[in-house]
Amino acid sequence: MDKCSFCGRDKKDTNLLIAGISGHICDHCIEQAHNIIQEETKGKSDFDVSQIELLKPREIKQFLDQYVIGQERAKKYLSVAVYNHYKRLMQTRNDEDGIEIEKSNIILVGETGTGKTLLARTIARMLHVPFTIVDATVLTEAGYVGEDIESLLTRLLQVADYDVKAAEKGIIFIDEIDKIARKSDNPSITRDVSGEGVQQGLLKLLEGSIVNVPPQGGRKHPEQKMIPINTQNILFICGGAFDGIEKKIAHRLNTQIVGYGAAKDRDYIDKENLLQYVAPQDLKSFGMIPEIIGRLPILTYLDPLDKTTLRNILTEPKNSIIKQYIKLLGMDKIELTFDEKALMYIVDKSIDFKLGARGLRSICEVIMIDAMFELPSNGASRLRITTNYARQKLEKINMKLLKAS
Ligand code: ADP
Repeated sequence: MDKCSFCGRDKKDTNLLIAGISGHICDHCIEQAHNIIQEETKGKSDFDVSQIELLKPREIKQFLDQYVIGQERAKKYLSVAVYNHYKRLMQTRNDEDGIEIEKSNIILVGETGTGKTLLARTIARMLHVPFTIVDATVLTEAGYVGEDIESLLTRLLQVADYDVKAAEKGIIFIDEIDKIARKSDNPSITRDVSGEGVQQGLLKLLEGSIVNVPPQGGRKHPEQKMIPINTQNILFICGGAFDGIEKKIAHRLNTQIVGYGAAKDRDYIDKENLLQYVAPQDLKSFGMIPEIIGRLPILTYLDPLDKTTLRNILTEPKNSIIKQYIKLLGMDKIELTFDEKALMYIVDKSIDFKLGARGLRSICEVIMIDAMFELPSNGASRLRITTNYARQKLEKINMKLLKAS
């Protein structure tokens, strides 16, 4: 009769007895051994920065290319910044040459829906590091209604499953950073609770310091034990639309142009896309304090999405919207195709409704909903989306919306 080599139980007294080369182990002992392992490793982080598979900038960009269409400049800047950031983390504590690589937090300026969050998310996915997105608009100075600045770190800690070591190497994406710009150019004007004060608070995190973080967040649990987190190696990526910054850019460029007015060979300025000339002083004119700007040394922009880019967003990304529908229906053995003209029609509608890239999905959803409801039950084997089909579905919904109002 086989027995467990650990506890001696007979096979009949176990639920499962697994045979090894020269012995057996029963389910009880496996469970107990598992508990011992858990107990022993509790509190120990298995996060090891040297395990981050660090791709070279060109490879990072190639990875981004799979998910983000266009935005060449932003991708290039991000790739280099992220590469350098993690290189900095991996440098051995051999300070003989006295050269310390400084942190390269990033700020992305671009209209809403042009891929800022997508870029940050894709980078985090590539690196397998904890990643969180926070909206700067919810942040207020301590003591005011809203969330304390430390809540950024609470969220990172939560996504890292409270593994402090992992959180300390993570990425925080701060969205709508432009919303905490100083409302007035005059810094001495009455207190600006959600603007300058928050910028000052953020500064502490950006420059790298040890911050006591409430693990549950908020102020509702005054009894909770604070966890100290060092923000030195956390990469901050900030994004904002900075509505109206073009005026500040144009103003600066014009002033320069006046100065060099006589020079015939002065550079051509593309007035359609002024964002490409964005410089730190424009952020300052917009109301960001110089200290914050100094802590976000990598400044780059995103292009507005033109027709071709929107068209490509529909089908080109690795998990593009259209690929997802094809896969969904494919699971019911229904072959789904889209006419090129129908795709262009979807793009045109998204532009008409001023919905940008976010609108593509909602428009597709309206077009696809009936088919996704009906086809799995009626035995269809293919569906071709023509412009007419798409128009019919959209007009139907428009009618309904009109009726409702
Ligand atoms: P932002 O952060 O700039 O407001 P997002 O990154 O949230 O915009 O973009 C919204 C959605 O639009 C994304 O989830 C993505 O599906 C799509 N999108 C926007 N820009 C691009 C792009 N350049 N390439 C691929 N998809 C994009």
